[in-house]
Amino acid sequence: MTNSLYVSSPVNALVQGILREDKTLQQVLEHGNFGLGTFNDLDGEMVLVDGIFYQLRSDGSALIPDLNIGTPYACVTHFSPVQSFDTLKDGTYLDLQQVIIESILSNNLIYAIRIEGTFTRIRARSVPKQDAYRPLVNVANDQKEFEYEHISGQLVGFWTPDFMHSISVPGFHLHFLSADKSHGGHLLDFVIKAGKVWLQPLDQLSLDLPHTIEYLNANLEKDNSEDLNKAEH
Ligand SMILES: [Zn+2]
Repeated sequence: MTNSLYVSSPVNALVQGILREDKTLQQVLEHGNFGLGTFNDLDGEMVLVDGIFYQLRSDGSALIPDLNIGTPYACVTHFSPVQSFDTLKDGTYLDLQQVIIESILSNNLIYAIRIEGTFTRIRARSVPKQDAYRPLVNVANDQKEFEYEHISGQLVGFWTPDFMHSISVPGFHLHFLSADKSHGGHLLDFVIKAGKVWLQPLDQLSLDLPHTIEYLNANLEKDNSEDLNKAEH
């Protein structure tokens, strides 16, 4: 099996406000069993765990979406970790980012990351469904944040080199799903009581380029990294 990241559409298109594509969850599932993204009209954050999609809505609740619905941006892989270690006791998200950066082979590969543990507190967010075309940085103002205390669950996502910022979200990008699979969102911060990290280096990229009118006519030459940074971190 290849260690490949599949990206359903360049993230630059999403940042520019193309919030709808014709790629279905069923089609994305052909490329992996693990990953994250969002849904058409930004109807919540997406997490894919063990081949099952969860839709994390703006109130923090999770549901299992229909596989016929569409996504404007999804990143998935066939998860097969090669490295694992325990997290620092009472470590913060920043602490863990440092440990991961120090333990990876190179900053020029992509890494799939899974973290399972008990969190003293965890802060996440999601977005409410949008009715119209809006640049992502404006939508960011509508994001709903929520915090959980003493909750078990997992974080799913990727570390991506900065030079790929027009294709995928650079740096760490993780989504949270509670152990009972009832809550989650895009990770903002945490303190972890105890947990374990699994890493998988990915050395191939498979990128789909959509054929919708909006995508074909978009100007994707612009460097959107500042807007992306504001919206996704
Ligand atoms: Zn996210």
